[in-house]
Amino acid sequence: MNKTKELTANTFPAFCREHGLKCTAQRLAVFAALRGAMGHPSADETWAKVKKTVPTVTRDSVYRILNDFAAIGLISRLDALSAARYDTRLGPHAHFICEVCGSVTDYSLPATFPIPSGMPREQHHLELRVTGICDNCLKGVGARRPEQVAVPQRRRNRRERKGAREVSGV
Ligand SMILES: [Zn+2]
Ligand SMILES: [Zn+2]
Repeated sequence: MNKTKELTANTFPAFCREHGLKCTAQRLAVFAALRGAMGHPSADETWAKVKKTVPTVTRDSVYRILNDFAAIGLISRLDALSAARYDTRLGPHAHFICEVCGSVTDYSLPATFPIPSGMPREQHHLELRVTGICDNCLKGVGARRPEQVAVPQRRRNRRERKGAREVSGV
């Protein structure tokens, strides 16, 4: 599924309205830059592309628009760890990374974990990285920040997010 491909410059404004966003010129330009992009572009790469049509757009605006798009389910965000982390557990295993508190928890992988076919044979590292909200933060966020709407949205997308699991080979 690729919603940016399903939508066009003509249908994008209605999609925005349906999700409570105004279709501004900048949002449309970011959408156009993303449309069908398969290279997992960063905010900076997207900004460079958008500047070609909207030279005055700031990096901040592009960053905010990308997060808005992720919040309404147009795109998903692959979160990078903010800094290198070091792991005492060696061998293939899974990590759950909490988007709120940043905690990284280890989980064992099933004994036979499927490697996507067609990958180069020389493989050194297998990691399943799942991001989300840990149980502690889920309780805390619910109690402290009831006005926060991003969490229910994320929970609703949980099924989709499962599809975003990535296996990274280094
Ligand atoms: Zn947490
Ligand atoms: Zn680990």
